[in-house]
Amino acid sequence: MGPAVRDFRWKTQIQKYSSRAYTIGKAHPPISLACYLYNVQAVSVLQYVAQFTDPPEDINAIEQVALHRILHFATNSLTKSGYLNLHTLGGPMVRSVVATLRAAMFAASHRFLACWQAWLRQLRLTADEHNFCREIGQRTLSPGFWDTPPFVASLEAAYEGWPSEPIVSIAITRTSEALRTMASSTRRSPAVRAKLPVQRIAYKNIFSGLYQPDFINVLKRRLQSVLGSSPAENRMQTALHSLKSRKPHEVIQIMRTWYNSWATTHRFKEELRLPCLFGCLGKPDSLPHYASCPRIRYLMSLMLGVPTWWPGFGDLGTRDPNETALKNVSCMYYAYHVVRFSSSQYVYEMYTHIPGDSSESQQLFSTTLSVKSDDSARCFLGAYRASALMADLMVQSVSFPLPASLGDFPSHASCPVLPLPTGEEIPAPRPPQGGCPIMPFG
Ligand SMILES: [Zn+2]
Repeated sequence: MGPAVRDFRWKTQIQKYSSRAYTIGKAHPPISLACYLYNVQAVSVLQYVAQFTDPPEDINAIEQVALHRILHFATNSLTKSGYLNLHTLGGPMVRSVVATLRAAMFAASHRFLACWQAWLRQLRLTADEHNFCREIGQRTLSPGFWDTPPFVASLEAAYEGWPSEPIVSIAITRTSEALRTMASSTRRSPAVRAKLPVQRIAYKNIFSGLYQPDFINVLKRRLQSVLGSSPAENRMQTALHSLKSRKPHEVIQIMRTWYNSWATTHRFKEELRLPCLFGCLGKPDSLPHYASCPRIRYLMSLMLGVPTWWPGFGDLGTRDPNETALKNVSCMYYAYHVVRFSSSQYVYEMYTHIPGDSSESQQLFSTTLSVKSDDSARCFLGAYRASALMADLMVQSVSFPLPASLGDFPSHASCPVLPLPTGEEIPAPRPPQGGCPIMPFG
């Protein structure tokens, strides 16, 4: 305690926490391992100080940055509640910093109850004797120019359940009730009673009070921005529910797709914004285009041995989220990013002469970016096959030349999918009117 110690108390720990989150994220380990390392090696460094000191005021912003570094979602793809509740959809478990710090202080207030209560009495007597009348009236225990209260005052607030914070206060009330029930059930065993999991129960209650999943509302907005319209709410709920059967890394890949978090040059607002990496003329390197890109749809249909209007392709796999459709989204995510991060091999500058100036010395050229679409398609198919093997997804053998050249797919072609069957009868495949060409498969 003392003047200007708020930042000083946390400076080293916050630096260590942020540095570890950055290092873990930069190493790009598998997502489950990244989250495990983050929980164990980054969040844990804050717990010791948090037992006696209130967290810094900007802890939410600091945690948000760390979560982005670990999970590699685009900015604001999910809310903080979304990142911390990924495990409810089958994704990795990420510990909440705020709930961890609060639970640590609550546990410390119980563990050291006898000590800090005696210190608090002594401090109150001293404050009543030496503080100004105004400070005594406000019941502060330290002079006004100190920017933090004494840590025994923080422990007292924790012990009382932070009455000024309604959500946390309710969570602490639930925790106290649970602990009382647990203590009475283990009354005959003092050893067990002495080891009540105070911090674990407090964390669970504070977490569930602060962070409720809000996936549906955010998904609605994201799909609206990508597809131009959002599917019905029950369909989105079905799609999110179906993720629980997938592996954690697949859940993350699918979530990054549905929540518009592909690392496209347009999404990340890069200085050099590329065109469609599969060669659609005039179309941008962005997920809203790839969601209905006729060329990427054609490549996937070749691999899966299904027509381009297969319902599993619809609305980025949310229209009919069966197992194959979800695996396809996961493989598409992986294959696109392999192409994206080797795009310098496929994208080149093309110079076009601007007619109307006959003077050779003053000839003008327009510069546009063009794509070697056959090369990027090869890369996409190879990466898709590798990802499909890992996901146990059956794929067809595709060799070049392809049954139809990518050039046969004009960029303006719409690529619809069949609606889902509504009755018992499953409609026979038929070509959509004015849509993508029908290709022989198998
Ligand atoms: Zn395209």
